[in-house]
Amino acid sequence: MGTADSSLFDALRAWCVAIRDVLLSRGCAGCDAPDEVICPACETLFRHAYSKALPGEVGRCYGCSWYRGAVRHAILNWKDHGDEECDRAFALLLADLTTTVVARQGAGVRSRALTLVPAPSSPSSMHRRGRWQTLPLTRLMARSLNEDGLSVGVKPVLKLEGVHGKSVQASGAASRSRRIDGHVRVTENLGGDDSLFVVVDDIVTTGATMGQCLSALRSAGAGEVIGLALACTPNRSA
Ligand SMILES: [Zn+2]
Repeated sequence: MGTADSSLFDALRAWCVAIRDVLLSRGCAGCDAPDEVICPACETLFRHAYSKALPGEVGRCYGCSWYRGAVRHAILNWKDHGDEECDRAFALLLADLTTTVVARQGAGVRSRALTLVPAPSSPSSMHRRGRWQTLPLTRLMARSLNEDGLSVGVKPVLKLEGVHGKSVQASGAASRSRRIDGHVRVTENLGGDDSLFVVVDDIVTTGATMGQCLSALRSAGAGEVIGLALACTPNRSA
């Protein structure tokens, strides 16, 4: 190989290495630690089962974490910046939360059929993100829980209609509740299905949407319903 060929070869190889590094390297979605989807330190932040009261006394929901710091960063990278590699990690964390919360309720998780219901996204959000991001979470959760011997199905029966803009743009539980009220629709009659319904959302802030989801499912015939989320904002007293 001549000198010119050799230097061309070296340049080409360096270029290939650079491209490979750009394509393959990634940092933790929460803290940018190298070569991790979610690093162990950040994953620990999601291994809780926090309880949050929902407005209107419709019940409680439970979160893997409080919505702040690296947790917030990881969820926003996943939700709004297309980091779909987090799907599996988040689904496994939510599956663990599911077994913890259901067992805590004394429901006997292994003897009870569960129906996971992805929290609805508005049509504009789905268009912006290119997908209904809670749906792949519930499907991966169901797969993991069924592999563990539970009886878990997924019913994407909640639709959000006539709501525009991002949820964080509405301030205050009362105004958000008014804005959402009447827009969560259940697409199926659930009477006769005695499974425990588990609504799965990514972030619960005021709890207005989650509360509407639980109420709508009850109105459609669901007996027992609970809400789960990757992260909640703490109640004021927390
Ligand atoms: Zn991290």
